Amino acid sequence: MAKTKYIMHDCAYCHKPTKMELVGQMQTEDSEKPAQKVWYRCTRCKHSALLDRQTLAQPKNGTGAKLDKGVCTHYSKDQVFTVGQAIYHEEWDDVGKVIAKQKTSDGTHAITVAFEKLGERKLIEHVTASVETEIVQVVPA
Ligand SMILES: [Zn+2]
Repeated sequence: MAKTKYIMHDCAYCHKPTKMELVGQMQTEDSEKPAQKVWYRCTRCKHSALLDRQTLAQPKNGTGAKLDKGVCTHYSKDQVFTVGQAIYHEEWDDVGKVIAKQKTSDGTHAITVAFEKLGERKLIEHVTASVETEIVQVVPA
C-alpha cells in the first residue's frame, strides 16, 4: 500500500460521518474467503476503527434505509452466508445484515446478524447433513 487513502465514514466517537485515514490492514486467517479488515483513523477525533472492506464496498442507499424483505436471502441453517449479506429470518419476521462470521472450537459455523428489530443475534450456518443425522435418534426396527 503506497498511497494514503481517505474515506468518509460514520465515526463511532464523533457520531457523524468524518474524514478517515487508512492506517493499516488486517487479514483474517481462519475464514475461507479473505475478509479483509482495515484500520481507519478519524482525522477529527483521532480514534481508530476496524472496518470491514466488504461492508465499505456496499453502496449505501441512505441512512436508516429499511432492508427490503424481497431482496433478502431467507435464512436457513444449512446455507453459507457472507459478511454484508442481507437476510430474512422467517420465524422472527425480521431482516438484518450479516456483520461477522465465526467458527467455534467444535467446528460449528456461526454468523452474527444485526437485525433491524431484534438487534444483534448469533445464528448457526453451514450445518451439514452429517451433523443433523447425529441429532436424529435411530430406532431399530
Ligand atoms: Zn471521530
